[in-house]
Amino acid sequence: MTMQGEVKEVQLVEVGPRDGLQNDPTILDVETRVAFITRLVDCGIRRIEAVSFVNDKRVPAMAGAEAVMAALPRREGVSYIGLTLNQRGFDRALACGVDEANYVVCASETFNQRNQGAPRAATLETMHGIARQAADAKLPLSLTVATAFGCPFEGEVDPAIVLDIARQAADAGVREIALADTIGATDPYSVKRLVAMTRAAVPDLQLRCHFHNTRNTGLANAYAAVEAGVTVLDASCAGIGGCPFAPKATGNIGSEDILYMLDRMGIRHGVDLPALIETAKWIEAELGHPTAAQVSKAGLFPKAAE
Ligand code: ZN
Repeated sequence: MTMQGEVKEVQLVEVGPRDGLQNDPTILDVETRVAFITRLVDCGIRRIEAVSFVNDKRVPAMAGAEAVMAALPRREGVSYIGLTLNQRGFDRALACGVDEANYVVCASETFNQRNQGAPRAATLETMHGIARQAADAKLPLSLTVATAFGCPFEGEVDPAIVLDIARQAADAGVREIALADTIGATDPYSVKRLVAMTRAAVPDLQLRCHFHNTRNTGLANAYAAVEAGVTVLDASCAGIGGCPFAPKATGNIGSEDILYMLDRMGIRHGVDLPALIETAKWIEAELGHPTAAQVSKAGLFPKAAE
């Protein structure tokens, strides 16, 4: 078990092509999404949430998941993650050759019903079947616990619910669990507490954290997670994800922002930061509006060698 202050290396899971683009007002075509993901791979990122297997009509920004997967460059050590919310999504993920599947259960009952159109108990039940299928197919399966730190409909979320989901995931054979602050509501101390409780409940599961910067606490929360020993963090290039014209922007923490901070802290991450900043500028141009992350605006310090 990693103790506080011992983290030497953090793995970034890039979620911009999924969580980011899914929530952006600009809808990109398959070719541009493939180009985005390819650039992220070229930056040295090794785990990328590339697609989501949802209803194309309900989520037009994620349409064509199969076409994206078919067009992506396959490179040694690069893992493309497909997000799945139900059995049908998982079947599609399995059929089109993702390297990992990420299943979602919402800690909040109301959010689960709105997000997945099913009661939480049913979504959990499906997880057990999916985990068996994943094991048979030798497909790594992660679980994201959405609204783990708060729900827009129910308010505070009882950590006991998160821990129950985590225990069920461990029993089912899920190998990694992501605690997600879906609406960017939490604070660093709450992060430390929930990470510690989750680790105690499921000591064999790898822990990952997923933060949104909705209330500008995202980077502080990520720091708290690392201090608590978490070594895998979700983030999105350029901090994409929220509508920049709406007051309730809900983007993920920016990949280049969190990696810059880790760099300065002497924590390894294996990503070419100048190249990632160029990719952030590129995706900003493709989306046609300003993006939220900041390091790509100010540049690195000290300046990268030219
Ligand atoms: Zn998210």
